[in-house]
Amino acid sequence: MKFTSTRNNTLKVSGSTAVLTGLAPDGGLFVPEFFPTVTEEEINGMTDMDYPERSALIMSKFFDELSLDELTEIARRAYSTFDGDPAPVVKLDSGLFVLELWHGKTHAFKDMALSVLPLLMTALKEKVGQKEVCLIPVATSGDTGKAALEGFSDVNGTGVIVFYPDGGVSHTQRKQMVTTLGGNVKVVAVKGNFDDAQTAVKNAFGSAELRERLAKIGCKMTGANSINLGRLAPQVAYYFSAYVDLLSFGQIKYGDAMDFCVPTGNFGNILAAYYAKRMGLPVGKLVCASNENKVLTDFFETGVYSLDREFIKTTSPSMDILISSNLERLLFEFAGRDSEVVKQWMAELKTKGCYDVGGETLFTLRENFYGGYADCEKCAETLGEIYDEYGYLCDPHTAVAFDVCAEYESDVDTAAPIVVVSTASPVKFASTVLESIGEKVPTDDVKALKAMENATAFPVPDGVYGLFEMEERFNEVIDPSELPEAVEKFAKTLV
Ligand SMILES: *Cc1c(COP(=O)(O)O)cnc(C)c1O
Repeated sequence: MKFTSTRNNTLKVSGSTAVLTGLAPDGGLFVPEFFPTVTEEEINGMTDMDYPERSALIMSKFFDELSLDELTEIARRAYSTFDGDPAPVVKLDSGLFVLELWHGKTHAFKDMALSVLPLLMTALKEKVGQKEVCLIPVATSGDTGKAALEGFSDVNGTGVIVFYPDGGVSHTQRKQMVTTLGGNVKVVAVKGNFDDAQTAVKNAFGSAELRERLAKIGCKMTGANSINLGRLAPQVAYYFSAYVDLLSFGQIKYGDAMDFCVPTGNFGNILAAYYAKRMGLPVGKLVCASNENKVLTDFFETGVYSLDREFIKTTSPSMDILISSNLERLLFEFAGRDSEVVKQWMAELKTKGCYDVGGETLFTLRENFYGGYADCEKCAETLGEIYDEYGYLCDPHTAVAFDVCAEYESDVDTAAPIVVVSTASPVKFASTVLESIGEKVPTDDVKALKAMENATAFPVPDGVYGLFEMEERFNEVIDPSELPEAVEKFAKTLV
């Protein structure tokens, strides 16, 4: 299997190149040259497999440089850090299910891919004989940073340095990051907001001078953000796994269409569901759930993607995003894989702040996708209702999805069962959860967790409390201009 770029469909690179570089040289995203297929027989065969085996089978469709055994070993190691089944499906009623993706170390769905990516990188690196250490600078607004730190911690031949906006992440998120153990990790605060940190990291990636200096000491930079293909492939797997689970439980029979409703930000998670559909999984509609930053809802309504709006801070912060990077991969498919068209739209987004895909493309998009959004008030209301009705406690991101799911079901006449994808554990957002279910909210984080546990009997893992007693390892604060220097200094500690 080779990979091409959304901005140059004549490019052909190997999976190892795609994963080890992150972004195509033309600024486009790597996409598979064609969609590999998963047959009915293979899907039925997955009923006898555990999650790592299912994951390895799906990844093997993309990464043929590694054997199925090697990929199984990778998935086994990656998911051994999870608490029980990595992607269990919970039944709420006959047509409504939840796919929980937050049983990893950091309690958010980013763990599903970020625990695999480091192992995938090192295995591919070995295959192609890359000697340099993979150095991964990451800008984070909170969740990705911790998941990357945990994923790469003490993985040989890699190093991860995370930059977060000073004062711009929650108390718990900062605590999670600066207490991370491991000899190859570092966390640095950057003066300014998330955009400043992100721009500084992007500039570092683009700096030929920095690359050269790193090459001299035996390091090579790569990206671990959600546009890396190595994050997309492991995400495709859990959609197959959810379908297979429902087959096993006798909830559906092979060929029955299943809808998925996904809380969406950068469009990585829901794109994986679309890939699963193209690979042969009987998927019906994909419901794209947004919060007040509803650029995608408007897009699926009008075909116009427009940044002409204000950025709103919500109670579902991981979906506070205006530029959904992975949408470019979807556009590539719906533009008939014409990279010139995609390039044009992306150029318009940059110069005019918007693009319009036109009526015909919109029509086919809407055959596959339904877009909706919930504001913070609706999100809180729905969180409370789901808890009252089913005794099921969810986090605010998942609550947004539940709300849009209900809207979809009342709007569209469909008999297909629907799976709401749950992207974070309630423990990550105890205060919002407490408020939504009508409980008093203590200001202290630990007290909020205790209060949630007492009110709901939702078990808070010991590690979450333990976090608040751990030693803080990193306290450096830098100016964005000092970022390349910080990367280089860190690189020297790795070799
Ligand atoms: C990252 C994240 C999302 C958004 O996922 P995308 O792949 O960026 O669309 C939703 N919920 C949570 C909790 C997240 O961490």
